[in-house]
Amino acid sequence: MPSISFPPYPNIEKTYTSLPESFFQYTKPTPVASPKVLFWNEELALEFQLADWSKEEEALAQFFSGSRLPEGLQPFAEAYAGHQFGHFTILGDGRAIVMGEIQNRSGERFDFQWKGSGRTRYSRNGDGRATVSAMSREYIMSEAMAGLQIPTTRSLAVVTTGEPVLREETQEGAVLTRVAKSHIRVGTFEYAYQTLSLNELEALFRYTAERHAPEVLKQNNPALSFLEFVMKRQVDLVINWMRVGFIHGVMNTDNMSIAGETIDYGPCAFMNGYSAKRVFSSIDVNGRYAYANQVGIAQWNLACLANSLLPLIDKNQETAITLAKAKMSELETWFQERYIRMLGEKIGIPHLTEKDLPLLQSLYQWMQDTEADFTNTFLVLEGVYAPKESIYNDIRWNDWVNTWQEEKKKKGIREEDATFLMQKTNPSFVPRNHLVESALTNANQGLTSVADQLIERGKSPYLREKGYDYESEVPMGGDRNYRTFCGT
Ligand code: AMP
Ligand code: MG
Repeated sequence: MPSISFPPYPNIEKTYTSLPESFFQYTKPTPVASPKVLFWNEELALEFQLADWSKEEEALAQFFSGSRLPEGLQPFAEAYAGHQFGHFTILGDGRAIVMGEIQNRSGERFDFQWKGSGRTRYSRNGDGRATVSAMSREYIMSEAMAGLQIPTTRSLAVVTTGEPVLREETQEGAVLTRVAKSHIRVGTFEYAYQTLSLNELEALFRYTAERHAPEVLKQNNPALSFLEFVMKRQVDLVINWMRVGFIHGVMNTDNMSIAGETIDYGPCAFMNGYSAKRVFSSIDVNGRYAYANQVGIAQWNLACLANSLLPLIDKNQETAITLAKAKMSELETWFQERYIRMLGEKIGIPHLTEKDLPLLQSLYQWMQDTEADFTNTFLVLEGVYAPKESIYNDIRWNDWVNTWQEEKKKKGIREEDATFLMQKTNPSFVPRNHLVESALTNANQGLTSVADQLIERGKSPYLREKGYDYESEVPMGGDRNYRTFCGT
């Protein structure tokens, strides 16, 4: 094979491999037949001093498909476990490999990971590969999430492989390069707690705390403070998802990042017509991860984390349980306050409290009964979107709007302040399912124009501007029958 010269690249480190070997295995990606760059994120590349690579198609394709690596790189796959739909399973990076860690311009450390790059020790029966659709979907959705200013892993590149991947129907394969604060999950702690020694659990804790929450190490009870750190980030994350109508779809503990980023864009989707029970994932038949269940599931997952931290919280198990339980009940209050505040901000009322809840409940009940579009409803309220649907003329809607206006007056909220708050809180754009699907059909033909348009618009999702009607339009029949899939 002729040699290839790589453009200059920043230092690629691997602090993670300071952990005991039970946490990872050195593995190289499996080269692919004919790598071709489909998506490349120039803005993100710039943050990591990889901008020079933009002009080097061949090097890009080779490196970001994992086919040809610079000398000295020692990539690795991470071990973890997880509760999948409530059942504990030993897992690990079955189709992903961490190339290493790179610091951004501000000196923050991020993992760079290939996804879809071939089998590893943790692949079980899987082929280690991913389809163009699935990786393009993750690219589009994660970049939209970043645009919404919600914590998320990012996507640097999608490179197609020129090799078929066998799924329900055969599709071309692709490798995504994911950029994450780290890939340490609730499931990583469960893995250590359930299968390794106390020393190994302790090592994972120290490493993770130093990397993500060094301040907890100065506290009286570092493990308990760490639990609080993760809890708060997770609660904020899920509240943000609910604010924009996002349904993650597969909130297993292995898909919950300790750093509080949205991770693993498998069957996720933004809903159009509101329903508290909305589910898109084809395998979530009981609606475990439905829209309104996400809060309860986050709490359930955090209880799994608390459980795995028990031996570090206190040597005496009884004491540890008492302390962890008290922390979990603080979470309940904390969540409730943040959640109500977010709901209030959606209708332009700051500092909403529990006694104002009936006002919101009647709006949400109306949306549930009429299946009103979640994004558009708040734009109609703000007066920036003129709806075609007759539901926005019905008596219940008009009554509610009147009550809402009176409520704002009673509270002395000025119109411009309410509008300002709503503009910050409610997006005018989310990547609607039919738009994402059309971008994926396009991407499957090696074309990115539809996706590029979506991605560009997704960079300013709070913008109020006329002329964006095409994206506010809801498809006929809504997306009640829309289905998404895991692990494709
Ligand atoms: P996910 O549902 O994508 O979070 O994946 C759950 C687990 O299955 C993870 O440990 C993945 O690494 C693994 N996995 C998913 N798809 C594949 C595949 N095609 N080959 C090997 N492992 C996979
Ligand atoms: Mg996963």
